[in-house]
Amino acid sequence: MQNYLVYGLGRSGISVANFLIKNEENVFVYDDNNKLAQELKMGGLLNQNCEIIDKLCAKTLRIVHCIVLSPGVKLSKKLQKLVKEFNIEVIGEMAFASKFCTAPIYAVTGTNGKTTTVNILAHIFKVAKFNTHLVGNVGNPFSNEVDLIAPNDKVVCEVSSFQLEYSQGFSPLAVGFLNIAPDHLDRYASFEEYFSAKKIILDRVQENGKIFLNYDDEKVRKLGENRQNVEYFSLTELPQEYNGVFIRDNQIFRQKDSEAQFVANLDKIKLLGKHNLSNILCAVSLALFGGVLPSVIQKAINSAKPLKHRIQEVGEINGVKYYNDSKATNTNSTLVAVNSFENKNIWLLLGGSNKGESFVELIKQLPQNVVQIVAFGQMGKKIYKTALKQKFKNATLHKTLYTAFCYARENAKEGEIVLFSPACASFDEFDNYKQRGEYFCNLVLG
Ligand code: ADP
Repeated sequence: MQNYLVYGLGRSGISVANFLIKNEENVFVYDDNNKLAQELKMGGLLNQNCEIIDKLCAKTLRIVHCIVLSPGVKLSKKLQKLVKEFNIEVIGEMAFASKFCTAPIYAVTGTNGKTTTVNILAHIFKVAKFNTHLVGNVGNPFSNEVDLIAPNDKVVCEVSSFQLEYSQGFSPLAVGFLNIAPDHLDRYASFEEYFSAKKIILDRVQENGKIFLNYDDEKVRKLGENRQNVEYFSLTELPQEYNGVFIRDNQIFRQKDSEAQFVANLDKIKLLGKHNLSNILCAVSLALFGGVLPSVIQKAINSAKPLKHRIQEVGEINGVKYYNDSKATNTNSTLVAVNSFENKNIWLLLGGSNKGESFVELIKQLPQNVVQIVAFGQMGKKIYKTALKQKFKNATLHKTLYTAFCYARENAKEGEIVLFSPACASFDEFDNYKQRGEYFCNLVLG
C-alpha cells in the first residue's frame, strides 16, 4: 500500500482519488480551496475513505510517496523543494491513470481543434465497431474510465499542454499534432515555453508507434525533422518523399512510398471551414493506423456532426444568421472561424477575460468581409482601442455580452451573419465557455 496525495479536486482529482481508494491505496486529498474536499465528501462525490489535508507542509508531505496532480495545478517553488527533499514522485492524473490502461492509446494535441478531432476519431472507431473510450482533456478524466478498458478496445485521448507537464509513463501508440499558436500565455512565460510543453508528447510515443504531423503548419512540420516514425497530413498534395494523407479534388488520398491511393471523398461532410478539414485528416490518419478500412472511414466522416460551441449555427433573426463559437478562446481560433464564411458580411462579437494575448495580429488579418467589430467585457476596451489604432473604423464598445448582442441584433442587415467568436476566455462573466455559449444561444433563440 502506498500513500498518495491527490492535489487539486476538480473532475480529474475526484476521479483519481476515487480510483485509488477503490484500488485500496491510502489517499490524502488537498485543494487550495480548503472547504472543497469536505463539501465533495458530504455531497457523496468523493469517497469517504480519503483523508483531507489542510496544509501542504513538511509535516504532511513526509509520509507521501506520490503526488497525483490535476491538470492546471502548479507546484510552488517551496513545494518543489519539499518534493525533492522527500523524494516524492509527482505525476499528472492523465499519465498516472494511463499506466493502468491495457488498450492502445491514440492521442491528439495542438492549440486548436483537439476536441473536434478526438470526437471525429472516436466516431470513426465506433463506426468501425471498436469498443471506444474518449478520455482526457475532453472532459472525461482517464482515471474515470480506465477500469472499463479492455485490451482490444481503442482509447482516444485529448491531451493539453498542462497534462504533458508531468506525463512520464504516458505512452500512446499514436500521436496526432494539429497546430501550434500562442495560447495560455497567462500560464507560460513565453510562446517557446508553451511549445516546449506540447512537444514533450513526441517523446512519449511508443517505439513501434507513429506520429502524425500537420504538414501545413510550419512549426509542427519541422518537428518531424530527424525522426523516423513520422507521417504527415496536408490540405494539399504532399511532396512525394513524404508518407501521409492529403486532399486532392475534394478527396482524401493516402500516400505511401510515393504512391497515392484514394481513401474517401469529402462531398458529404457537415463540418464547416478549412480548419475542420485538417481535423478530419488528422483523425483519418490515426484511424487508418488503427486498422480502420477506407470504406468505414467514408461512412464515418459523412455522419460526423459539428460540436456545440464551435461555429455552431444557432438560428436566424430577420434574415441574419447567428453562430456560436464560444470555444474560440484565442485569436487564432477566431481567425479560423471568420475565414470559414467567405461570401458573407460578418458582425464579429469579440471579448471576455484576459489570456495575455495581443489583438494586433487578429485585427490586421481579419478578412474584408468582417464589417463590424462588436467588443465587450473585460478585454473589450483593449480590443476596441486596438481596432481603431489599426484603422478598423467600424468598431463599437459594450459592457457585456448581452449589450453587445443587442447592438448586433439591432443593426445587422438581412443576409449578414453575427459570429460570436470571442478570442478571449469567459471568466469575466461566466464559469466557462460552455455556459457562455449556452447564454448566447438563449439570447438568439429568445
Ligand atoms: P480545442 O479542444 O483544441 O480547444 P476545439 O475542437 O474545441 O479545439 O475547437 C475550438 C475552436 O478552435 C473552434 O471553435 C474553432 O474556431 C477553432 N479550431 C478548430 N479546429 C481548428 C484547427 N484545426 N485549426 C485552427 N483552429 C481550429
